[in-house]
Amino acid sequence: MTVELGVIADDITGACDVAAGVTAAGLDAEVRLGVPDPATAPAAACIIVALKSRTAPVEEAVGESVTAARVLRSWGARRLYQKYCSTFDSTDRGNIGPVADALVDEVGGAVSFGTPATPAVERTMHRGHLFVGDRLLSESSLAHHPLTPMRDPDLVRVLARQTPHRVGLVPIEAARSGPAAVADHLRRLRDDGVRHVLVDAVMEEDLDAAAAAVAASGDLVLGGAAGLAVALARTLATGDRVGAPARPAGRALVLSGSGSERTRAQVAAYPGPRWVLDVDALAANLDGVVAAAVDFVRGTDGIPLVSATAEPAVVARVQERWGRDRAAALVETALSRIAERAVVTADVRRILVAGGETSGAVAAALGVSTLRVRRVAAPGVAWTTATDPAGRALDLCFKSGNFGGRDFFTTAFEEEER
Ligand code: ADP
Repeated sequence: MTVELGVIADDITGACDVAAGVTAAGLDAEVRLGVPDPATAPAAACIIVALKSRTAPVEEAVGESVTAARVLRSWGARRLYQKYCSTFDSTDRGNIGPVADALVDEVGGAVSFGTPATPAVERTMHRGHLFVGDRLLSESSLAHHPLTPMRDPDLVRVLARQTPHRVGLVPIEAARSGPAAVADHLRRLRDDGVRHVLVDAVMEEDLDAAAAAVAASGDLVLGGAAGLAVALARTLATGDRVGAPARPAGRALVLSGSGSERTRAQVAAYPGPRWVLDVDALAANLDGVVAAAVDFVRGTDGIPLVSATAEPAVVARVQERWGRDRAAALVETALSRIAERAVVTADVRRILVAGGETSGAVAAALGVSTLRVRRVAAPGVAWTTATDPAGRALDLCFKSGNFGGRDFFTTAFEEEER
C-alpha cells in the first residue's frame, strides 16, 4: 500500500476530523492511536497518527512527533502533514512551532508550508489573520481558552514567537492567482531564508490552489488543520477505495465529557435516557458510581447517554473544590471505565464519545490501536471501526467538543445505521 499522505495529529478528535474529510474526498484513511509499531503494515493511502501532544510538554510533543514521522517515512509516506487545530491552539512555547522545526530537520533542508484555514467550519485566514466565523481569533471564545488562550490573531507573529526561524506568508492574492503563483511566492520566501510559510485561504478554492502548488514537492513539511489536508486528498484521490468496513452489531452508548458550548447544547437536546455523573460523588466513591452507571446502561432501552457535561459555573465550582486536574481525572477515569465495562458486560459495541480529552481516555481504556473510517457522521466527525484486544469489533465515533449539530447525538446513530 502506497502511503500518499502521512499525518501527525496533535489529538485524537483532530485525527478523526482529518480521517472523515479525506475519506469523503476519496482517499482511504486509517487512524493509528499513538506512535505506531513500524511492523504493522499500513492499510490505507492516508495514515493519521493520533498523538496527545497539543498541550504536552514541548520535548514530549517533539519527541513523539519525530518518532511518528520516522515510522511514516519508513512506510514510504510520500508527504508528511502536521495536523494542528483550526484555531491554532498553542502558546508562545509551542507546540506548533517546535514540532514544525523538528519535522523540517527530520526531512532535511525543507521548509514547512500550511494553514489552519478551513472554510467548511468558518475558519478563514486573510493577511495572516485568522477569523473564526465573523470574528478575529482574538475576539472569539478561543481568547479565553483555559490552556491555550489565543489573544493574537496574527498567526505569522504567533508562529514567530514559537520558533527561532523566520516565518513568512503567501498572501490571498497568490492563492487567488492559482497554484503557479503560490509556488512562485513560496520559492521566493524560501530563497529569502524563510523556514515556515503560512498561506492565506478564505474559500475552498484557495486551499485547492495551495494544495496543487505543493502536492508534488516531497521536501516540504505540510501542515495545518483539516482544510488543507482535505484539499490535498482531493488532488491525490485515486478513486479506488478499498471499501468501508462492515458495521459492528451490538448495543449503543453515548458518553459525554466535553464542556464545549456545542456539546452542552447536544446534551440538553438529547431525548433519550441519561445518567448524569457528579464529580463530588465520583470523588467519594468512583467504583460505586461506575458500577451504578453500567447497571443503568445494561437495564435501559434505547440509547443511553452518560454525561459529565455541565455549565461553566458548575465546572468552576467543582474545580475549585477538587482542583482542575483531579476533577478532570475523575471524569475521564469514570467515563473510560464505564465504556470498558459496558463493552465487556452489557454487549455495547457502538459508542459515541464527545470531547477530545475524553475520547483519548476512552480509546485508551478500550485498548484499540487502529481506527478505520466507516462512515462520515457530520463534517469533521466519522464512525470508525476498531478491534479491541479481545477481538470484539467496535463502532466508535470520537467527536470534537464543538462539532456536530444540536441533534447530533440522535442523527449520528441514524447515520451509523444507514
Ligand atoms: P472539550 O475540550 O470539548 O471541553 P474535552 O474532553 O477535551 O472536551 O475536555 C473536557 C475536560 O473537562 C475533560 O478533561 C473532562 O474530564 C473535564 N470535565 C468534564 N466534565 C467535567 C465536570 N463536570 N467537572 C469538571 N471537569 C469536567
